[in-house]
Amino acid sequence: LTQLFRPLDMLGFVYRTIRQGLIDMAAMFKLIDTEVEVADAPGAPALVVTRPVVTFDDVVFGYEPDRTILHGLSFEVPAGGHYAIVGPSGAGKSTIARLLFRFYDPWSGRILIDGQDIRAVTQDSVRAAIGIVPQDSVLFNDTIGYNIAYGRDGAGHEDVVRAARDAAILPFVESLPQGFDTEVGERGLKLSGGEKQRVAIARTLVKDPPILLLDEATSALDSRTEEDILTTLHTVSEHRTSISIAHRLSTVADADRILVLEAGRLAESGRHGELLRKGGLYADMWARQQTENEALDEAAE
Ligand code: ADP
Ligand code: MG
Repeated sequence: LTQLFRPLDMLGFVYRTIRQGLIDMAAMFKLIDTEVEVADAPGAPALVVTRPVVTFDDVVFGYEPDRTILHGLSFEVPAGGHYAIVGPSGAGKSTIARLLFRFYDPWSGRILIDGQDIRAVTQDSVRAAIGIVPQDSVLFNDTIGYNIAYGRDGAGHEDVVRAARDAAILPFVESLPQGFDTEVGERGLKLSGGEKQRVAIARTLVKDPPILLLDEATSALDSRTEEDILTTLHTVSEHRTSISIAHRLSTVADADRILVLEAGRLAESGRHGELLRKGGLYADMWARQQTENEALDEAAE
């Protein structure tokens, strides 16, 4: 019988090896893609952020020539402002994030950070200014410390510890026998979804970015973990400009301003209460999500 099982063990090993290879390759292709899409202007200076204002000025963009995704989008997030972007799936929310990070350039219009067109400055300096926490962060099969330090070249142990503290994962890390040297991933410690997101937040905080971009950062988590992580995100956003993209509206109800995107256009914007009173798309989405929640609660009882 052991004879029979050994090839299966082997298959599991091969599968895991290939899968890791694919993750690395996907990450690489993303990078290569990026290099092809946009290039630094010759002699471009670095972005200098004194007041982290984010401006979209009549931005038109699509991935393919015959399909426009953003139809002349304009908005401005003031320095230290906490804005949310909501809207149906496919509306173009993540596209806004990708453009701000300069994975692509707009067809027309401009994107400015602190008054500087992001096409006129180096990509590295733009990306250093923005911390992104995506929906499902990819951790490397390496130590927790490595996974956090990866956020910035030359990050030292003290930076890692501070970031872990701010991401509220320091007590957890310190409770592990090997602390920051604990291996995570395939052959190491399996982290829960919430722990993984905290490592990703710490990785972002190591950069100490003036701008935070959260793209469905908590939407893959159960609602209790989501609340815990949202509390942490609120704290780390305090002295930064933040843009939270969210599907679950309850997670952004306290934003300074909510931008409601529909098919690549700004349908409406305002504070939660204003939008509810207006009785438009946001109010509809809110009502629908309330009904869904009630149905879920009933199902749970
Ligand atoms: P959201 O985040 O609001 O759900 P996205 O910004 O991801 O929406 O996508 C907006 C539209 O752009 C969708 O119709 C999507 O299919 C399309 N899209 C997204 N990424 C690509 C891509 N790399 N190539 C072609 N189309 C894309
Ligand atoms: Mg999206």
